[in-house]
Amino acid sequence: RQSWMERLKAGLRKTGSSIATVFTGTQINDALYEELEDALLMADTGVKATEHLLADLKRRVKETKTTEPAAVKALLADALADLLQPLEKPLTIGEHQPTVIMVAGVNGAGKTTSIGKLTKHLADSGQTVLLAAADTFRAAAREQLGVWANRNTVEIISQEGGDPAAVSFDAVSAGKARKKDVVLVDTAGRLPTQLHLMEELRKIKRVVSKADGTAPHEVLLVIDGNTGQNALTQVRAFDDALQLTGLVVTKLDGTAKGGVLAAIAQERPIPVYFIGVGEKIEDLETFSAKEFAQALLS
Ligand code: GDP
Repeated sequence: RQSWMERLKAGLRKTGSSIATVFTGTQINDALYEELEDALLMADTGVKATEHLLADLKRRVKETKTTEPAAVKALLADALADLLQPLEKPLTIGEHQPTVIMVAGVNGAGKTTSIGKLTKHLADSGQTVLLAAADTFRAAAREQLGVWANRNTVEIISQEGGDPAAVSFDAVSAGKARKKDVVLVDTAGRLPTQLHLMEELRKIKRVVSKADGTAPHEVLLVIDGNTGQNALTQVRAFDDALQLTGLVVTKLDGTAKGGVLAAIAQERPIPVYFIGVGEKIEDLETFSAKEFAQALLS
């Protein structure tokens, strides 16, 4: 099996939005910068981050008196890594017991899968985890989370029907009583345009804080790395509603273009705690700005 970096590179390459091809010529000229601009935009980097990167790159080229396109590529990798650096921050557990982590996202983003992977990641590092199925509406969603709970042999608080905020409250109370290290609250998938459902998320957040005055300690958004600029729209909307503390970016092994992370870094630099690089339980990685920049430019 390929390493996640190789799969990430393969995924990025599949899109045909290869940025690296821009640097195969012999000259550094306006045409190269124009091609680079197109390639960055094609890779979902967005207008603002693309402008930032081009300006930063030109400054670096000038400062270092670089003349070789291949060397410009290395400078771009540095510029990109610097832009992405604020996103590189680990999720820290242990300050509170339990650490309450609320997880939100649109349907199909990979939320439940990511919670399953995260549960394993936490269990592997010796943490006890309790899952809360706050999607009380969809039986399939509860069952799917139940499968991940079984796979990880962790407890799950689940209830058919009823109020998602009430289930979350019960889960946090149970997590406290049973001295769990982490309570992961899986919320129902929703679009930021569904205002009543966004209000429901705010209610979950409020009610959870009644069970534990400092909770939730983390509010994560799971986004599908394939959705390009749409992912940025989701980050803005969920952040406005919930004050996100972290992101999980999934499906970077697929056909994701990757540039959206630069767009996020430019506009909403919310830490990317993890990236999803496959469907298997172990396919969750911590984000490294430098490695990601290198993969994107390989
Ligand atoms: P949810 O609706 O947000 O809970 O999404 P799910 O967790 O059910 O995931 C939707 C689909 O995406 C499933 O088929 C998952 O196996 C798949 N998926 C989730 N994360 C990844 C990932 O990192 N890579 C790949 N290739 N597939 C993923």
